[in-house]
Amino acid sequence: MKAACILCDQPFTPEPIQQKKLRKHPHRLFLCPACNHRITEQVFARRKEQPKENEPRT
Ligand SMILES: [Zn+2]
Repeated sequence: MKAACILCDQPFTPEPIQQKKLRKHPHRLFLCPACNHRITEQVFARRKEQPKENEPRT
């Protein structure tokens, strides 16, 4: 069973839990592990970037 990544458009083999979901919802799209990892990193980076009001300006 293969799924296409919505970001890089590469076919990949989803994890067993994703395969179950795909069988239930065939039109649902998933990210490949590489993109998933990248997105996760971006989310964490964005959280760190939140501006702090009481940060001193130099
Ligand atoms: Zn991808």
